[in-house]
Amino acid sequence: MIGITYDEKTKKIVVILKGFTCSWNRCTFCCFYEEATRDIDNLISTNKEIIKKTECLMKEKPVDRISIFNGGSFFELPLSVVYDLSNITNKKIIEIESRPEFLSKDSIGHLFNTLKPRKLILRIGFESIYDDIRNDLLNKGIKDSELRRILKLRSEMKSKFGNLIEFITYVLFGIEGIDEKSVITSVREFNKSFDGVIAIKYKSYHEWMPKEVKVSKELLEFLRMNCLDVDLTDSDIWKID
Ligand code: SF4
Repeated sequence: MIGITYDEKTKKIVVILKGFTCSWNRCTFCCFYEEATRDIDNLISTNKEIIKKTECLMKEKPVDRISIFNGGSFFELPLSVVYDLSNITNKKIIEIESRPEFLSKDSIGHLFNTLKPRKLILRIGFESIYDDIRNDLLNKGIKDSELRRILKLRSEMKSKFGNLIEFITYVLFGIEGIDEKSVITSVREFNKSFDGVIAIKYKSYHEWMPKEVKVSKELLEFLRMNCLDVDLTDSDIWKID
């Protein structure tokens, strides 16, 4: 669902842009490609409209934080969309998502200089601390060596930008094949080396997708205590479009 939502309480806008199909597009639990386009003109014009609507909203409402999603890696958006976004990102807390292979000192530094945010938060979908869950079960295509590279990159970026740049990771739960003990370990371990964890409750949209599994109260309680956010895929925020 592309468009924008606004949360009065947190002064946060979520902007969901039209994206190209993710260059990986092989994770077992993902069907974002269904909302993607191959048509660059359509992508640019649709996103221009969404960004314009966001600008209008920002004239009416106080906005502190903007989360920008495009159903894949932010760095796969055309540069013109990134430049359009720079009209709304100045001095705001900006969150984007990316696969790790797009993250480097250069790509992050360039993005920071273009968006000029108050803080840039990079959300990365490692999903699990365990290589076999990440790659054999979920087919993320992100090896442990890549996790180590990102943690080294985080340290380097911290020494240059301090807390102006944060790296946070997703942990997936409620999906068959990932037991609750491993979810807890992932959250604990990631919390030691990242700026925080967002727990994402898996949702199955199609027959062919992996099955959802019930989540215990104890796990939910643990996640609420130890994660920046627990995304249960239900939303009561104000939907604009
Ligand atoms: S990397 Fe993200 S967008 Fe790409 S297939 Fe995996 S979950 Fe989907």
